[in-house]
Amino acid sequence: ETRDFGTFLHEMADRYDMMFKDRGITMERWIPGRAMYVDFDSDKLAQVFDNIVSNALKYSPEGGTITLQADARDDRVVVGISDEGPGIPEENQEKVFERFYRVDKARARNLGGTGLGLAIAKEMVEGHGGWIDIESEYSRGTTLYVTLPYTGFQSAGVEA
Ligand code: ATP
Ligand code: MG
Repeated sequence: ETRDFGTFLHEMADRYDMMFKDRGITMERWIPGRAMYVDFDSDKLAQVFDNIVSNALKYSPEGGTITLQADARDDRVVVGISDEGPGIPEENQEKVFERFYRVDKARARNLGGTGLGLAIAKEMVEGHGGWIDIESEYSRGTTLYVTLPYTGFQSAGVEA
């Protein structure tokens, strides 16, 4: 279905607000006000963002901030989800998209999970013609970027 991606992100973010409330985590959101039309499967992309956000939450320190930021470019929309967690060493960053990969076995065991979340997210984003990137600084935090091709700015009204 083609719909405004900003509206979809606000729906997701409203749900995350509720999740974060009793975890002492603050959420910041920066979503452009103008319409951004993307052709997407909302169930699948909800799963993508849920996976990324559940990681961000899992690794956030008490009282930390998670930021959801969307940018509209010429032909695509880029959504970044940032946390203030432990980060991932440079040499391990690309591996997080592999099935069953977990950076720190001991830490990952304590926090649960199978190591499939990001592998599935990557598959689903690529299925939409997009891609997923990671930017992380060890002991500083992590940002996951989801980039999706974008069908252009459209107004709901009639255009000459
Ligand atoms: P699952 O998502 O299947 O429950 P998981 O969270 O361990 O398990 P992924 O979501 O694929 O698996 O993440 C893979 C690994 O990447 C994690 O185990 C963790 O080591 C690392 N990782 C992912 N996101 C973050 C993050 N925001 N901060 C630090 N490490 C992360
Ligand atoms: Mg996960």
